[in-house]
Amino acid sequence: MAKLMISISGIRGVVGDGLTPQMIVNFAQAFGTYLGGGKVVVGRDSRVTGPMVKHAVFSGLMAAGMDVIDIGICPTPTVQMAVKKLKALGGIAITASHNPIEWNALKLIGSSGMFLDEAQGKKVIAVVEKNGYRNVKWDQIGKPEIYEDAIQDHIKAILKLKLIDTDEIARRKFRVVVDCVNGAGGTLLPALLEELGCEAIFMNEEPTGLFPRAPEPLPENITDLCERVKKEKADVGFAVDPDVDRLAIVTEKGEPFGEEFTLVSAANYVLSKKNGPIVVNASVSRAIDVIAAKFNSEVFRTKVGEIYVAKKMEKVKAAIGGEGNGGVILPELHLGRDAPLGIALTLQQLAVTRMKASELRGSLPQYFQGKNRIEIKNYDVASILKEIEKRYKNEQLDKTDGLKILWEESWVHIRPSNTEPIIRIYSEAKTKEEAEALGYRFINEVEDIIKKNK
Ligand code: MG
Repeated sequence: MAKLMISISGIRGVVGDGLTPQMIVNFAQAFGTYLGGGKVVVGRDSRVTGPMVKHAVFSGLMAAGMDVIDIGICPTPTVQMAVKKLKALGGIAITASHNPIEWNALKLIGSSGMFLDEAQGKKVIAVVEKNGYRNVKWDQIGKPEIYEDAIQDHIKAILKLKLIDTDEIARRKFRVVVDCVNGAGGTLLPALLEELGCEAIFMNEEPTGLFPRAPEPLPENITDLCERVKKEKADVGFAVDPDVDRLAIVTEKGEPFGEEFTLVSAANYVLSKKNGPIVVNASVSRAIDVIAAKFNSEVFRTKVGEIYVAKKMEKVKAAIGGEGNGGVILPELHLGRDAPLGIALTLQQLAVTRMKASELRGSLPQYFQGKNRIEIKNYDVASILKEIEKRYKNEQLDKTDGLKILWEESWVHIRPSNTEPIIRIYSEAKTKEEAEALGYRFINEVEDIIKKNK
């Protein structure tokens, strides 16, 4: 498995085995060169390697003449919002998101608060490749500064949203269990839930970076939370990933919503309150089309990756958007996936509908997904996709991102990951069994093609 990946969204790798301080300084200095001097915001998740990475980032940015505003340990969406609020030219979130503990990464953010897009990211990479760093003289070296209110700013912005009625939520006195996986969630979520009048029970809220479970908030990784929700007789449970852009919901029965349904549920509420199109990536459940049809709303699909969704949302003036991994984007807050927002929208919906969490989940269109992956080493994914395309040329195909084959009530989506050397095979159908069978069928097909071409 490659231990270092460079992409338009930044640089990601295993610390001590690929991701070195030299690489980090280079990328930070390249980003500073691209920005050309001025203010830049830096925040990080709670990873143990965070301080080392942060100091290298500061060094690179300051050497390029950037004044660095340090907002400390916080969610990635907090960094995105701080960039806009503080009128900075850009930002860096130091986080490997849901990747295991040994990974870290830089996510690069533009002045819009959105991640860099393809063209912008390429410019930063070009600086590294050409060794074209901006090195300013001693009297122009950037200055570091601490800004302590970014988390409070983020909370206030959520509470101020028209869609969130804090009094209505507070009246219900929800009993909530939250699992922060010892990531950055513990810096923000306790205060948010207090403002919303919830009786909140926290698990793993210390931002130590020592993840007690696999950090991706998938059903199989949040079984402790499910148990705890039942034991505490809570109304709902929430799990976030280490940088708090992904949210998974657990019903009062201790059953996971399925991360797909965080966005489906949020969209169902938001579209009942305001008009506008919805933007999702190519892998998002068909349930979103059913919801959109109910409200006469148009659905736009993009490549997988927050920046593609966010840019399209900006372009079509979307009411809501996001990704099926528990990432909800509401444009009036900011154009980035935001788990604290997802929590507020979920509580709002429970408060307004008076439904139990399990009833809310049951009221949404029922689809099941299978999510599989195949590790690939130096293998040409395009040739695999071409072969599958040939085999299924008579079916409805969507090539927005990789290859998606659609049938009446099911689909399979095969694409290379942006962040890891793997092929993802997602499948969806009306039953779990069908979805899984469809997934396995295409794992076999892909493996078969790889074998034949060897
Ligand atoms: Mg994340």
